Amino acid sequence: MRAMVLHEWGGMLTLETVPDPAPGLGEVVLRVHACAPDQFDVTIRAGRAGGKLPLILGHEIAGEVAAVGAGVEAWREGDRAILHAYLTCGACRFCQMGRETLCRDFRGYFGVHADGGYAEYVRAPARNLCRIPESVGYTEATVIVSPVATPLKAIKTRAGVRPGDDLVIVGACGGVGIHAVQIGKRFGARVIAVDIDDARLERAKALGADYAVNGRRENFGEAVAQITSGKGAEAVLEFVGTEETLPRSFASLAVAGTLIVIGFQPGAVFASDPTRFVMEEIAVTGSRYVNRAELAEAARWVGEGWVKPVISATYPLAETERALADLAANRVFGRAPILPGA
Ligand SMILES: [Zn+2]
Repeated sequence: MRAMVLHEWGGMLTLETVPDPAPGLGEVVLRVHACAPDQFDVTIRAGRAGGKLPLILGHEIAGEVAAVGAGVEAWREGDRAILHAYLTCGACRFCQMGRETLCRDFRGYFGVHADGGYAEYVRAPARNLCRIPESVGYTEATVIVSPVATPLKAIKTRAGVRPGDDLVIVGACGGVGIHAVQIGKRFGARVIAVDIDDARLERAKALGADYAVNGRRENFGEAVAQITSGKGAEAVLEFVGTEETLPRSFASLAVAGTLIVIGFQPGAVFASDPTRFVMEEIAVTGSRYVNRAELAEAARWVGEGWVKPVISATYPLAETERALADLAANRVFGRAPILPGA
């Protein structure tokens, strides 16, 4: 098959012909129709996420089942599926309670610890597959994998957003944030989008944000206080997670509010007065991807049209490097998948 292969950390991906993968016990091989890059690819390429070389990157994968290994009963050739991005043990306490992203015997991610989707085929455990709704194309389906699934869980389960809540989304114009804006609206929240680019903030408003705050021009914590008449926001989603944004996110919380960290800068430290934890019962926590049931729920959200996949471009496999360069140069809005079959 044709695949984009990384041979040295920090190096370029090169288009090569490599052996087709074959499914092992409990595995399938997926013909990749679309695989969307994101910022994690930068970390992976640099060697900061682990994994072994040579490596095929790509972790937001949509395709159709091309081959089924022994012991797989739920999937047939031709079935359309996305892949849950985490390789988990399936046996530990957290896997068994449906919190598999906290797996204690974690095996890693597609495109890092197993070959990923910048290739014509990818091999995967059958339990990582999730059906794509009939009405959803492969390109759009890649968005389910993380940009829809991750904030859906964060908003619904981790933050418990309810109609009428104020929801601040820090990094609202990123690939995940722009879908979080739409989901927040669906939950009936008043959505305050925070980002640093006016043109993109306008697009966030067009997709449902009630307010747009340019965090480069103003202190968004103060803007949230003003918008909410001093109440603050019941929920804040952090997709940026830096030492600059975290204190402002914290300051944006209403009494009994919840700050959910999703994107973060490793090592970022921020101070918080414990008085607020007690006197206002605020909560600061994080949200780590989704379990398989939550992924299936995200697929349904896209299938029903409750959230609109934001796709700004597509690229053939051979132009994966151009796709990654466009991403790095901030020329992508939403997602811009690679189409290995094109
Ligand atoms: Zn586990």
